[in-house]
Amino acid sequence: ASWGFSRLLASAAAPNPVASTAEPPKVELLIDGKFVDSTTANWVDVKNPATQDVLSRLPLSTRSEFDAAVAAASAAFPKWRVTPVPTRIRVMLKYQELIRANMEELARSVTMEQGKTLADARGDVFRGLEVVEAACGIAPYLMGEVVENVAGGIDCFSLRQPLGVVAGICPFNFPAMVPLWMFPMAVTAGNTFVLKPSERDPGAAVMLADLAQQAGLPKGVLNVVHGSRDVVDWICDDPAIRAISFVGSNQAGRYIYARGCAAGKRVQANLGAKNHAVVMPDADVDSTVKALAGAAFGAAGQRCMAISAAVFVGGFDRWRQPLLEAARGLKLNAGWEADADVGPMISPEAKARAERLIASGAAAGARVTLDGRGAVVPGYERGNFVGPTILEGVTQDMEAYKEEIFGPVLCCMNASSLDEALTLVNGNEHGNGTAIFTRSGAAARKFQNEVDVGMVGINVPIPVPLPFFSFTGWRGSFAGDLHMYGRAGVQFYTQTKTVTSKWPSEDVGAIAQAQAPSP
Ligand code: NAD
Repeated sequence: ASWGFSRLLASAAAPNPVASTAEPPKVELLIDGKFVDSTTANWVDVKNPATQDVLSRLPLSTRSEFDAAVAAASAAFPKWRVTPVPTRIRVMLKYQELIRANMEELARSVTMEQGKTLADARGDVFRGLEVVEAACGIAPYLMGEVVENVAGGIDCFSLRQPLGVVAGICPFNFPAMVPLWMFPMAVTAGNTFVLKPSERDPGAAVMLADLAQQAGLPKGVLNVVHGSRDVVDWICDDPAIRAISFVGSNQAGRYIYARGCAAGKRVQANLGAKNHAVVMPDADVDSTVKALAGAAFGAAGQRCMAISAAVFVGGFDRWRQPLLEAARGLKLNAGWEADADVGPMISPEAKARAERLIASGAAAGARVTLDGRGAVVPGYERGNFVGPTILEGVTQDMEAYKEEIFGPVLCCMNASSLDEALTLVNGNEHGNGTAIFTRSGAAARKFQNEVDVGMVGINVPIPVPLPFFSFTGWRGSFAGDLHMYGRAGVQFYTQTKTVTSKWPSEDVGAIAQAQAPSP
């Protein structure tokens, strides 16, 4: 492995790194096929959220480094776009093999930098790997359409061609999966790419970029720059960048959508969420409670598809005790500890914000049935831990409900009927995911039909679509019109060219005569 991989691997290797006096490794940029150290004077510490140990130092790339990345991507495009589709696919076939072979190292990096358990970290890599696998089957999605004889002797057909240089801006919560939602589809469709990983946990993205080089991606096809708002602005404004894929918060995403679109780019922006579960009185208690606890508190609630609100049709009383037991049964610990179910939150600020929102719910009249504030994990006293928290009697006007807490907090609400529950869910600004728990096909069918949310689970708590579908958040959870991965993802990264073609038939005879051997 080249530098990008091995340096970060070393930093993530110790199961429980103790603060050392050694200088933490620098996170490298990938520009034109080479991993390089930034020349910037501005660096950010990447910290282990369970210990606050500094794992690596991330550069805020300079303008000239960003320009070099875009120039490399621009220079690589003409050759890459005419590289045969099967050749591009073969790079992805090799890439999926390399990701599989390095799964544990990637997962360990995710756990060390992001905090989630190793099992969740493996899932993070695996769900991204599935997009790479899907990219190996991209060819049917690249097909155009043909109509013969649109006029006498005239045929009309459409082609899907790549855009050119495209960029991706990633969040902290899925450091492997989200980059893999983006560049594998984009480059297999013939584009070249500039990736900006999250500045909080860039390690997995850098390792993945290194593996993509090893898989045979030519230099310049994938470039990685690091930074925060400056780099984001440069991406939005650079005329050479044709499209932006963004995943992250509403605040950043709405800004990037507006600025990128104003500069004439395509933008797809997956935004924040408040995902509701609707629990019908006939739902199976054991499986529903298990599903709710996993979806609300797993990964410390830092999933865009986490269930953060549960609407109990007919009331919460019979659910309180089993849910409490399920939540209490989850073990809070550093992600690499074998018994960990819930890891730390990403930062002390994120923890403080979640605790403040819990307090605001309590102040507004919600009951804190289970309080995870002030959780201390022995051995990891400096970790950003918040324990599973159940807020009961939450109403729509409360800040704890209106804000995305993005922590292990479940807001429990009541409804007297499915219709009332639907009104509540549809009244929320977000429309990412939702789930209904019921034994009734009729209730499930009504829900799937009437709910104004883009991804629906029926007795499935986190209905993330596999990559042959697309990730279809709606309303406040998405800006743009073509979603990520699947057919829509390929459409986003390609543009349609329509050709109208006339070859006069009399030419055939003329060619035959011209080519006939002389007697
Ligand atoms: P974030 O918006 O803070 O950061 C995402 C990216 O945007 C980062 O690369 C960051 O550098 C950049 N950024 C941050 N603030 C910016 C600003 N003011 N201007 C310009 N750029 C900025 O998001 P996060 O905290 O890393 O991730 C958590 C959020 O992402 C949650 O809201 C979660 O719901 C959302 N998310 C959504 C999906 C989805 O598919 N809908 C998936 C994962 C995460």
